[in-house]
Amino acid sequence: MFIDSHCHLHDDRIYGQVPNIVGRAKKERVLYMVSCATREENFGKTAKLARDHGAVIPCFGIHPWFLDSLSENWQKRLETFLTAEGSGIGETGLDFTDKRADQDLQIRVFSHHLDLARQLERPINIHIRKGWDTFIHLLKKSGPLKTPGLIHSYSGSPDMIPLLERHNLYLSFSGAVTRPNAKKVVRALGAVSRDRFVLETDTPDLYPTLLISGNKNSKKKRLNEPKNLPAIAQIAAKRAGMGFEEFVNHAYNNSLTLFESILP
Ligand SMILES: [Zn+2]
Repeated sequence: MFIDSHCHLHDDRIYGQVPNIVGRAKKERVLYMVSCATREENFGKTAKLARDHGAVIPCFGIHPWFLDSLSENWQKRLETFLTAEGSGIGETGLDFTDKRADQDLQIRVFSHHLDLARQLERPINIHIRKGWDTFIHLLKKSGPLKTPGLIHSYSGSPDMIPLLERHNLYLSFSGAVTRPNAKKVVRALGAVSRDRFVLETDTPDLYPTLLISGNKNSKKKRLNEPKNLPAIAQIAAKRAGMGFEEFVNHAYNNSLTLFESILP
């Protein structure tokens, strides 16, 4: 069985088809889908999806790409959703890819999410691109997370993994491991402890490369969905040098531990 540790079912490109998407996922033995909101505007949609589908586990947070959308009372709104629903926190984090990004604001917003995770004892779904030094600094300052968290679609160096694990973080691997040139991700997969990795699709993005056949131009239009998780697992297991069954059992049990406090 599988748990998709990070996806976005609220996304406008797929929102209308969620009942079918959940049905197809169940057929592929994807039991739960952890669906992360990304800004206040999609908190309500994410909450509704979780109410309508027992398999959808909600997370509420503000993604570092969408800080322009923050309302004056975003903290209040976030807390209202978090306390009303059995939910995780996220997607939140740091993304310094765009040089013009307001890094100070990102740090302030992300730190608030980290504080909430500690206060409310919720798992946190974290996005880090480029901001690794800052992230490690914040982690060292706060100490190990009280409730476990995950780094989604891990893109960092394999050398950082022991430190992240000591801080009660899990590493989540996505369709990015299926890219033929995914050398760094594959090295990370080899470095992570067996009891510290989980799997995700990041639906509707990160369509797995090795599922794409025929016309390369069609790649852009492909929308990912949680039913693709077993196919990602198959490639990831091979690249991790582990048998499929063993790999999948580890990933499933690890997600159960990680999300224990919010699973039904
Ligand atoms: Zn995401």
